[in-house]
Parts: sequence; C-alpha cells; structure tokens
Amino acid sequence: MSEKINVAEIFGENVFNDTVMKERLPKNVYKNLKLAMKGEKELQLADADVIANEMKDWAIEKGATHYTHWFQPLTGSTAEKHDSFISAPNENGKVLMEFSGKELIKGEPDASSFPSGGLRATFEARGYTAWDCTSPAFVREDATGATLCIPTAFCSYTGEALDQKTPLLRSMDAINEQSLRILKLFGNTTSKKVTPSVGAEQEYFIVDRDKYLQRKDLIFSGRTLFGAMPPKGQELDDHYFGAIRERIGAFMKDVNKELWKMGVSAKTQHNEVAPAQHELAPIYAQCNTATDNNQLTMEVLKKVAYRHNLVCLLHEKPFAGVNGSGKHNNWSITTDDGINLLDPGKTPHENIQFLLVLGAVMKAVDTHADLLRESASDVGNDHRLGANEAPPAIISMFLGEQLEDVVMQLIDKGDATNSIQKGKLKTGASTLPDLNKDATDRNRTSPFAFTGNKFEFRMVGSSDSIAPANVVLNTIVAESFREIADELEKADNFDMACHDMIKKLFTEHHRIVFNGNGYSDEWVEEAERRGLPNIKSMVDAVPALTAPKAIKLFESFGVFTESELRSRAEIKYEAYAKAINIEAKSMIDIASKHIIPAVVSYTTELANSVIAVSEAGVDSSTQKELLDEVTKYLKEMKAALKKLTEVTEKASDITEGKEQATYFRDVVKVAMDELRAPADELEMIVDKEFWPFPSYGDLLFEV
Ligand code: ADP
Ligand code: MG
Repeated sequence: MSEKINVAEIFGENVFNDTVMKERLPKNVYKNLKLAMKGEKELQLADADVIANEMKDWAIEKGATHYTHWFQPLTGSTAEKHDSFISAPNENGKVLMEFSGKELIKGEPDASSFPSGGLRATFEARGYTAWDCTSPAFVREDATGATLCIPTAFCSYTGEALDQKTPLLRSMDAINEQSLRILKLFGNTTSKKVTPSVGAEQEYFIVDRDKYLQRKDLIFSGRTLFGAMPPKGQELDDHYFGAIRERIGAFMKDVNKELWKMGVSAKTQHNEVAPAQHELAPIYAQCNTATDNNQLTMEVLKKVAYRHNLVCLLHEKPFAGVNGSGKHNNWSITTDDGINLLDPGKTPHENIQFLLVLGAVMKAVDTHADLLRESASDVGNDHRLGANEAPPAIISMFLGEQLEDVVMQLIDKGDATNSIQKGKLKTGASTLPDLNKDATDRNRTSPFAFTGNKFEFRMVGSSDSIAPANVVLNTIVAESFREIADELEKADNFDMACHDMIKKLFTEHHRIVFNGNGYSDEWVEEAERRGLPNIKSMVDAVPALTAPKAIKLFESFGVFTESELRSRAEIKYEAYAKAINIEAKSMIDIASKHIIPAVVSYTTELANSVIAVSEAGVDSSTQKELLDEVTKYLKEMKAALKKLTEVTEKASDITEGKEQATYFRDVVKVAMDELRAPADELEMIVDKEFWPFPSYGDLLFEV
C-alpha cells in the first residue's frame, strides 16, 4: 500500500488563508486587510509591515527561505524572481530574516524580457509587481526548497498592464458594479458584491520521459511535428473514463497532494478520450483565484510528472489525428450572500431576473462573438478549433430544451407560461433506483453551453491562461448589464419594461443560440446564413482586439486602454510567428539530421538485400519495389525540406506583426505539412529498427 493522505489535514496547509490571518494578525490589522480585500479601503504601509512580518514567520515555519512575487506575464505561463529573506550580515556576521510591507506590496522585476508589445521601450525597462491581496499567498515546496509565493499583478512604469491579472481584476470590478445595478432593479439591496465564479477543467497528455527525450519535436515545440498514426487510435473509446493505470494513478496522487497543500481544490480526475490523455478539474472558485489555481495546476502537473519520469504535455494538439486538449471554463456570477445569477430554478419561465440575465448574456455573446473567439486563440489551439473534435470555431450558445422552449414562448407568444419539467429516468431493474433526470441533456459540441447554473466556455486551449476568456466574459456581460440597467432604471413601470426588454433581447439575439450538432457541415452553412462569424485561425482572430467596438467596450470600463489592446495584438502576432518559426526549424533539423540519414541507411540495407537476393538467383522484385517506394518518398522529402528551409529563411525579411504572422500561416505552415507527408509515409514502411525516434504507438500506448 502506498502512503495514506489525510486530505482534510493537509488541505490548504501551505496557504496564508483567512484562518491563518485571523490567528496571526492583530485584530485591527486583520480588519483593515479585509477591507482592502473588499476594495473598500487602501492598505496602509504600517499594516502591510505587520502582515509581511507575520507572513514571513509563518513561511519560515514551513521551511521557506525565499519569497517571490508570482505573476502572470503575457507568455501564458507564470514568472517569478526569488529573493531570500536574509538581511545584510551584522557585525557578528549573522543575518536576520526580514520581509517588509514594502517588499510585500511592491516588487520590481526587470521587465525588459517580458513581452510588452511595444508598450515599454527598453529605456523604460522598469516594471512593477503589486500584491493582489484578494488571492492568498502560499508556500510552494519542491526539490529546490520552499518559497513564499505572493500572487501579484505586473505593470509598466507608466501603469499599463503587462500581465493577465490586472485586466482580470479590472473586469471583475466592472461586472460587480453592473450586476449590483441589475440586482437593485429587482429590489435586492442586501447583496453587496457580485463575483464571477470559475472552474477550469484541465486536459493534458502524459508520456514517458525517456521516450520524450528522444523526440526533439516534443522537446522544442511541445508537439510532434512528424508521426504516422499507430494501428490503434482512439476508435475503441476504451480509454475514456477507463481504469486509471497505476503509474498514472501514483502521479495523480502526488499532483493532488501538492495542489491540496496549496489550497487548490483538485476534485475530479479521469482518463480522457485519447490514449494517454487525462483531465483534472477543481472545485470552482472566484475568478482570479481560479486563474491563479489553474496556472499552479499546470506548473504542478509538469513538475510532478518529471519526478515520476513522465512528461506532461499541455500542448493543444501534441499528436495529429488524435484528440487534442482544451480547457473548459465554467463561469457563473454569484453574490456575496450566495445568489447565483445564472440559477434558473425549477421554473425558469417565472424567474424574471434569471431571464433578464440570460438575455443579457445572449446579447453579450452575440455582439462580441469575435472577442470571445479571440480570447481562446493561441498557436496550438489553431489545430483544434473547428477540427471536428473540439468546439467549432463559430461561437454559438447551447441553452438546452427547457430554456430554449421558454425563450421561444417569449419570442413567439410574447409570454412564457410554463417550463418543461424533468422526468424520471427508468432504470428498468427492480434493484436500481429510478433517477431524476436533468431538465436538459448535455451537448458536447457547443463552444458555449448552459449547464444547469453556469455557462461552460469550452474553447480555451489547454496550455493557455484562462484569464483572457474571463476578462472578455466579465466585460461583455457588464456591458449588456449596463445598457439594460440604463434603460430599466428610467422605466415608470418596471415589470412591463423588464418584460419587453427580455423579449427584445431574446428576439434580437436568438441567432446565437444553436442546440444542434456543432461539428456538422450544415451548421457551418447555417451559421453563415445567420451572419455569425467563423474565424478560422488565430491570425484572423487577433484583429477583434483592436476593432473600434472592442476599444470602446474595454475603455469604457477601464479594463484596457487602446494602447494596451494594441500591445496585446502585437504580442499575439509575435507569439504566433515565433512558435511557427521554432516548429519549422525543428522540422528542418529533425528531417535533415535524423530522418533522412536513417532512411538513407535503410535504402543501403535494402539495396544490399536486392543484390544478395539476386545473386542467390531468386526473384528480387519485391525488394526492388520497396526500394523504389522508399526512394520516391525520400526524394519528395528532400525537395520539401529544401522548400521549407527557403521559405523559413525568407520570413525574417517580412515586417513583424500581422504580415509576418500571416506569412508563417500561409506559407511556412503549408511547407511544413508538405515535409511531414512523405516523412510519415516513410515511417510506415521503413524498418522500425532504423526509425530515429519513438512512434506514436510507443508514446501513446506505452506509458
Ligand atoms: P462536468 O462539466 O463534467 O459535468 P461539473 O458539472 O462537475 O463537471 O463541473 C465542472 C466544473 O465546473 C468544476 O470545476 C466545477 O467546480 C465547476 N462549477 C460547478 N458549478 C459552477 C458554478 N456555479 N460556477 C462556476 N463553475 C462551476
Ligand atoms: Mg464540463
């Protein structure tokens, strides 16, 4: 038996959470911090000093020697710079362990190496990190020791956001303020704060590290750039929800333990559809904490995998022809006194507040489908979206039978008078209980599905931060709320005006609702008829960020300035170009130094065998045919390699930004596919002994 884990005991033991703060902080300091967390009062330096000191003592008790401002630059991952707690040695040569309020609140990493999209010239390299006191500090333990991690926002010398967190916090303010206006219209004066709740389901692949280390493509680009399909793929669906293998189970156990200690409520784990693919889902938390937690989850998955001689692949499409990985961003809006604005109740047709909120979300998603699509775009996700396994690239909303029926009643008859009720599910066996059915079945193909009391945005890429998606969700719904509240606050007869508003919202934005099969070709045509955007690639998605509509939206809520949006667009184009450039160069390297030499050796062996067989007086036509075939593909490969090398070299002459990214997509990527095709053919005919690296079969089925 393996080590027993006492979950209740270890959960959150490395978090400087409310219990710890209450215990350790003087009453008045605790109170002031709570006010700062609610955004009601700025934290004073004197209080920060006390908090920092307690935090330090607590962290040192946990074995910490260093602290870091832990932040999320625009690279998709997290960044940290470690400082130890030691002060300058005194005259006896001894050091003290110190940590001041100033150090807690503000850090100053050299910002010049983080992407800024032109926001920060090199002569203004200063960047600041500021403590996000709403997200708890925690101690992270690993082989390098223990570190106090302070979740922070990261901005430039001139105050522009250089990270994911700053706009996220701003967008949370926006939706809070506008949601409270909506609640007030319905006579609610008791709720003081509205916060988006988020639960991010994380998909990932696990491969054996020894095999991984033989695959340069995985090492350099996170995905396989060559690889023929194995004889068995995922057609049997035998992996999905299958029993978890022991080696994976041991890894998951360690992952959970690490996450629990840091207060991440890892809850669900199972095998996913593809072989070697798995999923981890936490219990939902408030939006910014959930974002931190997801970043931590990705870090821990990678780190713990390594310890088990495994590698965790977070890339959206590590294996062509095999399902890719995404993240389902479950999103709802909840008041501080526990009201979920997206809870329809048992009879949604009578829940006027819910219907208004639903209409507002429909309007938001319909109006800003392009922004939502953009928020989920990253280089790897281009392999998924619209590729008949992940949600389509077209944004639509799934409401399910019950809500769709209520919406249609309102549109068609002007009133909704009933809600379809869930039935009993007859199990048919006397010893099994009959089950209560959900009012709505699931729909797996919708990018934005209503699932009971939340929306599930399923487009986000597995390696990407969930922050951009939530920034967009929070802000576009805030905008809908604002427009609705502006109008309804003026109404003489609220009930009537509200009814008309709901009907108007449903009627005008019903085109965004689609309950059918999102993978079908008919939907692509139907969506076009409805005028819904079908944005096929990241390069096409980015312009949404700087469209006048987006600038107006984000500026009006102070979530992004125009220059912040422009910088983000630049960063995305740059990221795209860089990633494809690395992939192309890796392919050139692998093809010329590994595959082609291996195939040449194989042809030599084949040629020798042709000679030997002929000399023995036996018909050697089969060997010759094989030699011809291999030589044909080898020739094709050589030509494709030459072309890829040429077009990749040319890329650096093209102006950076959209133009260069477009070139990478339209020219370099095409040349990459042309090189891959003959190589994959060769992999299927060349003797395995000669092939220079492990195959898909080795990677996917032998973990
Ligand atoms: P599935 O989507 O597989 O049915 P669940 O319904 O359990 O799984 O939820 C998936 C994720 O959604 C989990 O992270 C869960 O905590 C989160 N979630 C559940 N309810 C809400 C809610 N009201 N708001 C946001 N996230 C939620
Ligand atoms: Mg789900």
